[in-house]
Amino acid sequence: MTNIFEQIQVEGHEQVLICSDPASGLRALIAIHNTTLGPALGGCRMWPYDSFDDALSDVLRLSRAMSYKAAVSDLPLGGGKSVIWGDADKEKTPALLEAFARQVESLAGRYIVAEDVGITVDDIETMRCITPHVAGHALAHGGSGDPSPATAHGVFSGMRACLEEVYGDASFKGKRVAIQGLGKVGSALAKLLHEAGATLYVSDMDPERVAHAIRDYGADPIHGHEVYRVDCDVFSPCALGGIINERSIESLSCKIIAGAANNQLKTLGVADELTNRNILYAPDYVLNAGGLINIAQELKGYGQEQAYEKISKIYDRMKGVFILAKKESISTAAAAERLAELRLYAKSTDV
Ligand code: NAD
Repeated sequence: MTNIFEQIQVEGHEQVLICSDPASGLRALIAIHNTTLGPALGGCRMWPYDSFDDALSDVLRLSRAMSYKAAVSDLPLGGGKSVIWGDADKEKTPALLEAFARQVESLAGRYIVAEDVGITVDDIETMRCITPHVAGHALAHGGSGDPSPATAHGVFSGMRACLEEVYGDASFKGKRVAIQGLGKVGSALAKLLHEAGATLYVSDMDPERVAHAIRDYGADPIHGHEVYRVDCDVFSPCALGGIINERSIESLSCKIIAGAANNQLKTLGVADELTNRNILYAPDYVLNAGGLINIAQELKGYGQEQAYEKISKIYDRMKGVFILAKKESISTAAAAERLAELRLYAKSTDV
């Protein structure tokens, strides 16, 4: 097993809790990256990892990303994330979720749990019976519900800033957008783009989702990796991470990359190559923060109108990233990191 302390110290994590409950079979990790700006908020992912090391790497990477997303979005929140090691389809039981919620409760509000892959709004409701330190619970119970429509709204707002940067005009009329992934976010985004007058190219492994977009939005279907080659204005990754890499970059024929997927760049170096190729990259955690902003609003008493007004500011935030990138002659990804770190670490040296 890896030296856990070494791994935790590299990215500056504050705390990692290893959770076990033999009665329910719970094996979980909760990582708190940084609480300088507020309590660490982040989803719980249930996934059948191959090993403890894989689960640990994932929770460390994801919790750090949450600190950066909250910081760049000006939220009074820190970054955290949790993973339950197991197959959500076979091993998720009320007893396991309750045991996990007891672990969250033991942190007394330093970590606030929300949904992620394998954990639904209903599961959050189950946890809420044990601990108040949950977010993203059902709309019917005063929560903010599924964050995906809010995420799509934020991606749409940030994409407008990208169009303005490249074409001097934020209008989608006549613009061609290729969407990879028509899941909860991608399908909501497709609707917004269609209504705004964009021409859509879509790709998903699920033929029904593609058929839906063809029928409702007149979209053109694209198969598999061909989505990277589509001659378009915007390529919008809304499925997987790591897809912008040395190989895919050779195929790209877009002017802008702006999508919801987390960790789109395989490495930070890829961002420089995009700049060299004159492709404008919208940093993922700036663009896809709508869901987090929506959930954060819940902590003050949820109101959709206020939440969406804040989410629309992703447009201005994206412009701020472009200004800094140009001023410092750095990539947009590096500019976003600087803006986040300024807020995160300037604040921690204040005290
Ligand atoms: P989802 O699981 O609902 O949808 C993902 C879609 O991608 C599915 O339809 C799947 O079939 C498709 N897909 C998977 N592999 C593909 C491939 N190789 N080519 C084409 N399509 C493929 O997920 P989601 O909630 O819509 O999230 C999409 C992305 O955005 C994820 O990376 C997620 O981490 C990120 N994200 C989501 C939110 C949110 O609010 N849901 C917030 C921030 C970031």
